[in-house]
Amino acid sequence: MANTTDARIRARIIEYADNTPEPPVMSRAGIVTTGCPRCLRTAWRQHDAEGPVWVCASCGHVEGVIVKCPHCAVAMTPPPMGAPDRWQCPTCPRVAATGESAQDIEERERQRLAALAALNEAIALRAAE
Ligand SMILES: [Zn+2]
Ligand SMILES: [Zn+2]
Repeated sequence: MANTTDARIRARIIEYADNTPEPPVMSRAGIVTTGCPRCLRTAWRQHDAEGPVWVCASCGHVEGVIVKCPHCAVAMTPPPMGAPDRWQCPTCPRVAATGESAQDIEERERQRLAALAALNEAIALRAAE
């Protein structure tokens, strides 16, 4: 007696887990800054039509924000304008917020996989009942 409902629920839960912007819905403080490469003062993150950019408050230098996936070493897809600061790797499930370290990103992915594993186990246990 195959229980198709469980498989469907499981697929839905996994999809939910994958699509829920669990961590960084917002960058920690809501405001993200970096050092301006030209004058070494503070540049602030802004969002223009092209995507997120760093804008230096002192010299006006503008530079595109790039977040790289530590696993795939490719540039992540920036969040759409007005969306939370959540970058998505085009080739793996990793997500990141601007300015996060590779360690932060890997740690989040580890937690996501652990949560999925726990979920799978719970579902397997229920299916075995
Ligand atoms: Zn500057
Ligand atoms: Zn990746």
